[in-house]
Amino acid sequence: MFKLILDSTPSMIFAFDLEHRFTLANRALANFYGLSKEAILGRTLKDLDAHQMADPALAFNQDILSTGEAVASEEMVESRRFRGPRRLMTVKFPLRDDCGVAIGLGGVSTDITEMTSAEEQLRIAATAFESQEGMVVTDAQFKVLKVNHSFTRITGFAPADMAGQTPEILFAQDDARLDCERMWAVLRTKGYWEGEVKNRRKSGENYPQHLTVTAVKDSKGKVANYVLTMSDITMRKEAEDEIQRLAFYDALTGLPNRRFLAQRLNRGFASGTRSREHGALLFIDLDNFKFLNDSRGHGVGDLLLQQVAQRLLKCVREGDIVARLGGDEFLVILTDLSAHALEAGARAESVGEKILASLDEPFELETHPHHSTGSIGITLFRENQAEFDELLKQADIAMYQAKHEGRNRLRFFDHRMQEAIAERAELERDLREAIQKMQFELYFQLQVDQSRIPFAAEALVRWNHPKRGLVGPSRFIQLAEETGLVIPIGRWVLEQACIRLEAWQKNPRTDRLLLSVNVSARQFRQPDFVDQVRSAIASHQINAHLLKLELTESVLLENIEEATHTMDTLRQCGVRFALDDFGTGYSSLRYLKKLPIDQLKIDQSFVRDITVNQQDRAIVRTIIAMASNLSVDCIAEGVETEEEYRLLRGDGCQLFHGHLFGCAQPLSLFEAALQAQAS
Ligand code: C2E
Ligand code: MG
Ligand code: MG
Repeated sequence: MFKLILDSTPSMIFAFDLEHRFTLANRALANFYGLSKEAILGRTLKDLDAHQMADPALAFNQDILSTGEAVASEEMVESRRFRGPRRLMTVKFPLRDDCGVAIGLGGVSTDITEMTSAEEQLRIAATAFESQEGMVVTDAQFKVLKVNHSFTRITGFAPADMAGQTPEILFAQDDARLDCERMWAVLRTKGYWEGEVKNRRKSGENYPQHLTVTAVKDSKGKVANYVLTMSDITMRKEAEDEIQRLAFYDALTGLPNRRFLAQRLNRGFASGTRSREHGALLFIDLDNFKFLNDSRGHGVGDLLLQQVAQRLLKCVREGDIVARLGGDEFLVILTDLSAHALEAGARAESVGEKILASLDEPFELETHPHHSTGSIGITLFRENQAEFDELLKQADIAMYQAKHEGRNRLRFFDHRMQEAIAERAELERDLREAIQKMQFELYFQLQVDQSRIPFAAEALVRWNHPKRGLVGPSRFIQLAEETGLVIPIGRWVLEQACIRLEAWQKNPRTDRLLLSVNVSARQFRQPDFVDQVRSAIASHQINAHLLKLELTESVLLENIEEATHTMDTLRQCGVRFALDDFGTGYSSLRYLKKLPIDQLKIDQSFVRDITVNQQDRAIVRTIIAMASNLSVDCIAEGVETEEEYRLLRGDGCQLFHGHLFGCAQPLSLFEAALQAQAS
């Protein structure tokens, strides 16, 4: 019976004699070393152990023999049967004969290698379970078995609250993102699911979280548990939302910004889903916003922008987009207008009109009423066939046109408009080159007195364009004015005029001929304009009385004090001034009296119809009378027929020019004509 017990226990039972030879070994010990009991008996540990780990064991044996005490300890022992050392829990005790004399020692060892490593795994798992993430372990029926501290911290639910529940009670009812059916479908096939869901805390508050669900299978491959990990991503979500808001929305009005639109539209266009429908892009710019900003400050300007944003939103349907491009520029995108361009255009127009009317209503800015208007450019597009930047350009062009035509109105983009703009850009390029290469030429046109005797000439600039041929000033002076290129051109004209006067002065037949030079607004307002004129006169040593500068009313009215001052200074040198195109501007008579003018030039638009239109004739008469009262000369422009000449003379006009007396001509032809008239 004793033998049976010995061989049935899983622990190793053994005894040594004083020479450390095995005198007893049970089956467990034999199995441990992979030898038969007989092969072990009579041998020492050293014989069995290939790895020299027997020495500590022998020393341990010696200790027990000398102290005579039983000792329990953990020891590491090698056996060929196992890979790596084994951890044994061993108790050893001395063996004595009947007289108490030591005859050897006995012991019991238990292999605890597996047991300790399982314990370690558990310790690691337990630590991991208490991580920062909330964790839930459920059974195969999804009933909660265990939750960690983080779970309680995040959700507010204690382990007791969750016992027997399913984690589904956490999911917020209104969470459209979490489709439980689909989650289960994925879990069943893949054994894993993750996503963002909205959860509900015990307090009832909803919060976003990142959730993973992992199915844990048993050795037979059947789901035994589910492990859920969840992290509260409120902060991350908030940060993400904030970044989104900053990047895609305008801080002042809360409207989407340009980047938002570009992304949205280009995505829409790229998808190409709705190909038939037309949409419209409206570019809205407030009129005179800069004035409000400058006069009442940016804070008040901001208020207006905010209120404009609100009004725009009220003018569109749900699904349309109102955005702020920056400054006082807004965009409205209307989609699904119609499959027919004309109908879409009409709808876009009616929204545009609605916007204009809404902006036209008085605003209230810090208790002050404010009136504002807007200008709108509209372009239509096929919803999957346009580039945002291109559309923006088109709408901008149309908006510019609306401004140009007097503001508070809307204009549609059309290709002719774009062509005109492209042509303008080309002309500007060419003009810059023309200045470098000086492709200009002065033409001259005679002016005659009542007896038809030439007394003066007007210098009129022409551009010898290498491809377009001769280009008249009406085609490029305005552009030159806007781009500032008129300054070098004007300087050149003045210089050429003085060269001409210098030459004429030396010839008795021409030495009393006056020469008129047209001066543009920008040129006149240059700070060194007076010096320019003075030095041109001085360097060519001309009689300043022969030089007349022609200005238009608008040039003078912009800053009447300064203009008067400039004119007075030049008049002291002898230069004279004519008021060109008189009658087309808005000069008040009061100002006219103040201005140091020598001559009024009746605009040709009045002269043109003088023979048929009594009103025009009355205006001409009035101008002549006014000039006489102000003691200034009066000259009629654009006299083309004898009849006009006769009438004008009859009404008291003394000076004339126009095709009747000669067109604007190149110098050689002009001088030849002068010669012919004299003889
Ligand atoms: P403006 O100063 O009023 O010049 C008179 C314009 O009327 C000239 O046109 C002239 O050729 C035209 N004209 C003269 N008689 C008749 C006529 O009987 N019938 C008709 N239909 N037209 C007549 P042009 O040369 O094309 O010049 C147009 C405008 O360009 C000028 O109007 C002037 O404002 C501007 N301009 C011309 N040269 C210069 C220049 O050197 N500098 C600046 N800043 N502007 C210039
Ligand atoms: Mg003129
Ligand atoms: Mg004129």
